Amino acid sequence: MNLQEKINKSLRDKQNEPRTRSGLYNPSSFGRCFRYQYWNRLDLPQTNPPDERALRIFKSGKIFHDFVQSFVDKATIEVKCENDDLCGYADIVTDDEVIDIKSVHSNSFHYMRKETYDVNKEKESNILQVLTYAWLLGKPKGRLVFVSRDDLCIAEYVFYVDKWRDRLQDELEVLKWHWEHKSLPNPKSRAYGGEKSGAECLKYCPYRERGECAEYRASIKPEPRAKKLRSKSS
Ligand code: SF4
Repeated sequence: MNLQEKINKSLRDKQNEPRTRSGLYNPSSFGRCFRYQYWNRLDLPQTNPPDERALRIFKSGKIFHDFVQSFVDKATIEVKCENDDLCGYADIVTDDEVIDIKSVHSNSFHYMRKETYDVNKEKESNILQVLTYAWLLGKPKGRLVFVSRDDLCIAEYVFYVDKWRDRLQDELEVLKWHWEHKSLPNPKSRAYGGEKSGAECLKYCPYRERGECAEYRASIKPEPRAKKLRSKSS
């Protein structure tokens, strides 16, 4: 077995280890398809679990994440945030803010530095996640720290709970309603470029081969750049 195969095997073994689930929604999925979030809370078996490349990308993200966390007091990291419906872990918590670390490919990182880049739109899911932790912990703001995997450049953005409170409450209300009524949410590709790209549904969703979503998936008309996603994933 060569080194790549050893790494792949180790990541696969780790992935297959039994995990204890909270049975709650995870704020890290906010902004994604409501149906995905609902099934994820139910812990439904995935039709498309992460492949080896995805597992390596997750691991690479974890390595950078741990590296950045190593610069702060251990008592402030991986702080549990929960209520009756939500459970997640904040990367770093300070007196007045929650910080979430996101490692990104260097191309994406430098694209983010362009003047035309709209972080509120492009990183909505990440913003909702960090501000949900801030809200649960009674902090007024959240900070997203993006790290370029290629050269360790860092970009930081601060967001305020008050400004996003309505959006957070809307997300949670929809999720809570479906859970309480045991009602499957409508399908909708929301993250990764929304319905325009369809990427969440066509490429990233671990439930994308479930029959309930087949009709919706077939109805997605991705813009040219996203068309290849459909062929890759089918
Ligand atoms: S396949 Fe699409 S519609 Fe179905 S849960 Fe996943 S993202 Fe939602």
